[in-house]
Amino acid sequence: MYKAGITVFETGRVEVHSSMMDMLDQTPWTGQEKLDELVSPTWPQTDTSTSQSPSEGAMKGFQRDPNHHRLAARMTTILDALDAARVWHTMKSDIMRANFVSAGGSGNGLVWDETCKRPRQWLPNQHFRIATMMRMQLAVISADQPIMCGNRAKGGDGEETCGCKLDDRMYHSRVCKIGPARVRTHNALARAVAMELRMAGASVDVERHVPELYKINTEGVVMEAIADISVHFPGEGFLTHLDVSVRAAGAERYVAQRGHSRRVAHAAERGESEKLDRYGPQMRPIIIEDGGRLGPESTIVVHDLASRAAMFTKGLCPARPFRAKLVQALRRTLCFEQADAALAMLGSRVRALKGGFVL
Ligand SMILES: [Zn+2]
Repeated sequence: MYKAGITVFETGRVEVHSSMMDMLDQTPWTGQEKLDELVSPTWPQTDTSTSQSPSEGAMKGFQRDPNHHRLAARMTTILDALDAARVWHTMKSDIMRANFVSAGGSGNGLVWDETCKRPRQWLPNQHFRIATMMRMQLAVISADQPIMCGNRAKGGDGEETCGCKLDDRMYHSRVCKIGPARVRTHNALARAVAMELRMAGASVDVERHVPELYKINTEGVVMEAIADISVHFPGEGFLTHLDVSVRAAGAERYVAQRGHSRRVAHAAERGESEKLDRYGPQMRPIIIEDGGRLGPESTIVVHDLASRAAMFTKGLCPARPFRAKLVQALRRTLCFEQADAALAMLGSRVRALKGGFVL
């Protein structure tokens, strides 16, 4: 622990060395995630009444203390945070930092840690491989073989081709405005949420017009409101309208903002406040960043849906497992769609990938 920059005292007090605190101070893991609270004097105290040598006393007190698992969990959290801070400092660009922070948060990454019970939910090998490389920000294509984005879309002036040079990490596949990737990912996420809610016994409408949320803009034009999902649990006398969306944490519009890379869930939070301005509080957001992190308001919405599912099914669908299932469905869908968009973008050029990526 000492080598890692942490000192545990006989009394149970824990200190992070000042050089480590300085390093943490420059990162997103202070302030919003309140890492400083972890090293506050309110740590659980260990019993040291029969201490022998200082270190033995601390260890025995630590083992006897009923709170020792909490102490251990906090120490592990600090070790993780220090590691994350080290990696964050080695990142070469703001986009990489934004993507790195976006890949964090409670339960994020379980797609890689846990095998789905249902084989039909497993990612195909090549999707899994490219999704893993993209998450780790590894080079997917060789930088010395320029590949241009061939996405095409029909517009007012005929067919438009993107033509952007693909970056070696295939980040462009997430943010390309031409081609179907963004719409397809959005639709897949909305369908995943709808399916989980239906399985919990709710009535679900997709793409429903919500006239009560229509607005008239300054030019007198009616701005329609369409909810991605309108959900209604048995016995409820109201509908909950949900707007599902995905935000690219490393997109220029977020990265260009001052202090963005030191904020956790910055892109998702911005998305939530835009939805609030556009529709008002009756349209509830479920906004996920492309790294898998949910926005703060979206986390509350997911908790709320899970509690109601538990209440209206009289415990048949308990809140906590349903919440985990819903969030995992979102993350798994996101992961599959991102990998699929990258593979589709490479198309027949997939053989040029590093490491002999042969389909
Ligand atoms: Zn493109």
